[in-house]
Amino acid sequence: MGLDEKSVAIVGAGVSGLAACKHLLERGCRPVVFDAGDAVGGVWPNAMEGTRLQAPRHMYRYSDFPWPDSVTEMFPNQRQVADYLHAYARRFGVLDCVRLGHRVTSMEYVGVAEEEVVAWEEWAGCGQAFGSGDGEWRLTVADDEGHIEVHMVDFVILCTGRFSNYPNIPNFPPGRGPEAFDGKVIHSMDYSKMGSEKAKEMIKDKCVTVVGYGNSALDIANECAKVNGKNIQSSIKHTLFLLVSETETLLCPFC
Ligand SMILES: Cc1cc2nc3c(=O)[nH]c(=O)nc-3n(C[C@H](O)[C@H](O)[C@H](O)COP(=O)(O)OP(=O)(O)OC[C@H]3O[C@@H](n4cnc5c(N)ncnc54)[C@H](O)[C@@H]3O)c2cc1C
Repeated sequence: MGLDEKSVAIVGAGVSGLAACKHLLERGCRPVVFDAGDAVGGVWPNAMEGTRLQAPRHMYRYSDFPWPDSVTEMFPNQRQVADYLHAYARRFGVLDCVRLGHRVTSMEYVGVAEEEVVAWEEWAGCGQAFGSGDGEWRLTVADDEGHIEVHMVDFVILCTGRFSNYPNIPNFPPGRGPEAFDGKVIHSMDYSKMGSEKAKEMIKDKCVTVVGYGNSALDIANECAKVNGKNIQSSIKHTLFLLVSETETLLCPFC
């Protein structure tokens, strides 16, 4: 059976999922791409306004799709990256395959003996597909309205990324977590999703502590400095939280 006769599902419409779909379309396959989000581009459409590429743009591009002439910045901003990815998807017909607002909630390989599945040892990413190809993948997909669909496909390509969907929030001892702080506590992921205007409104004239020292932390600290000009405290931790005190009092229960 040729690839054009195989049914393929791709989970995720970020940089990787879009490229996977484009290459399958070129080989005669017509995959369906499920993405839980509301736009193609993965982490980029909902990244903070102030976020920029950290790599020079010539190092962060598809080899078959140059940046448009209008982007002259060495480090394009979040909007430019999101637009570039959207343009790539449109140019290669990928948009027609994408179903936004569709989260894959489970997947199961059916039609082969349990022993065959248990024997798979390729989860470490050896570049080969699993199994004999005798079975099928059963995907359960939930849309934004809560409707559930079941899809049967021959192949699944997981392009779910590392930074989307699930905030990394530590477990705190009882009474010593966010509830012990007399202000707002918000994860950087939710801050990004909030959108620039709402985020600016939230931090305006507030005393803010950014807990963490990764890229998102620095982007947030930068946004706070732009809005308030001062009162930024940064605490170096691995987990990223943004604390907003309603009272101008700087409290940080995690420090
Ligand atoms: C703020 C930020 C800045 C970054 N800057 C850089 C940079 O400058 N240079 C660099 O090289 N990298 C950078 N990265 C890393 C970035 O993650 C990668 O460059 C790239 O965008 C990852 O693409 P991806 O397709 O693998 O995953 P993602 O972009 O994470 O896309 C995964 C997609 O899968 C979807 N998804 C996940 N689970 C499900 C599910 N169960 N069902 C349906 N859909 C699902 C998500 O909704 C998402 O759209 C940055 C990341 C972030 C968060």
